Amino acid sequence: MTRLTWQGNDRNSLICLCPTCRENFEITGSYRIRRANYRQTVKEICTYCQIRMGYDYYVTPVSERG
Ligand SMILES: [Zn+2]
Repeated sequence: MTRLTWQGNDRNSLICLCPTCRENFEITGSYRIRRANYRQTVKEICTYCQIRMGYDYYVTPVSERG
């Protein structure tokens, strides 16, 4: 039996993204970005650019069929 993959939350990548880098991910349309913790108030260094500050996000690749 073939099942389309449902990836659980544990497959998400937790990374810190500043607003600019988050937007870069979002515009690709290849990732789903979700705040890891809406109560987070302390910004951390962005994992991506390591310049600006941002919050933690779950970045989940959107699997395209085909
Ligand atoms: Zn950044």
